[in-house]
Amino acid sequence: VDTNSKRLTIAIQKSGRLSKESLKLLEACGVKFNLHEARLLAHSSNQPIDLLRVRDDDIPGLVMDGVVDLGLVGENVLEEVRLEREATSLKAEFKKLRALEFGQCRLSLAVPKEENYQGVQDLQGKRIATTYPYLLQDYLKKQNVAASTAILTGSVEVAPRAGLADAVCDLVSTGATLEANGLVEKEVIFTSQAQLIQRPQQLNSAKQAMIDQLLPRLDGVQMARE
Ligand code: ATP
Ligand code: ZN
Repeated sequence: VDTNSKRLTIAIQKSGRLSKESLKLLEACGVKFNLHEARLLAHSSNQPIDLLRVRDDDIPGLVMDGVVDLGLVGENVLEEVRLEREATSLKAEFKKLRALEFGQCRLSLAVPKEENYQGVQDLQGKRIATTYPYLLQDYLKKQNVAASTAILTGSVEVAPRAGLADAVCDLVSTGATLEANGLVEKEVIFTSQAQLIQRPQQLNSAKQAMIDQLLPRLDGVQMARE
């Protein structure tokens, strides 16, 4: 990383649920981009800003390691990566700049509908499929429940029917996916929305000035949307 660079680097999700809103928000703040679908890096056409388009899972680490200056990412991914990095002694610091008003979802425990679920203690000794093992184990520990995990990066909701797990811990927005798979949401363990985060190290004055200009614009955009 060139710490003297006067170009601000922002990481956003390349393609997924946060991509469109992330771009829209930056453009509403007056930052224009000409995107080439295949390219990882895009230069703003009107400001010294570079956009790095990556998988959302990579964004927290890039910010925590200071590879990029800013990142837009879901709190669920942010907190999962933070817990994982803390457990493995990697750098896990960052600055939270703003909560963004998109990407709302919740991480919930769900069980097959035929299950007579009474409470979280019923998961004792069971296996739970999830993409978020650290958030899940953090929650279970606080609840004094010992359960094992089946880590899947996709298709978590089919795990019980496939005989891979007894329950799931998955992201929910409407609940339609759970219902379609015969699952019932029982506990919300984490609520999430997109966040704007900054790397922990101090920025050079040129970059800091750009952020000082960006944040009031962002506040204005978010206020106008309410
Ligand atoms: P990538 O290829 O970047 O890893 P992904 O498949 O992990 O993509 P998406 O499904 O695009 O991720 O979701 C990105 C983020 O959008 C989630 O981590 C979460 O913060 C948010 N989100 C909002 N609603 C939902 C939902 N119903 N299901 C999943 N994610 C949601
Ligand atoms: Zn992802």
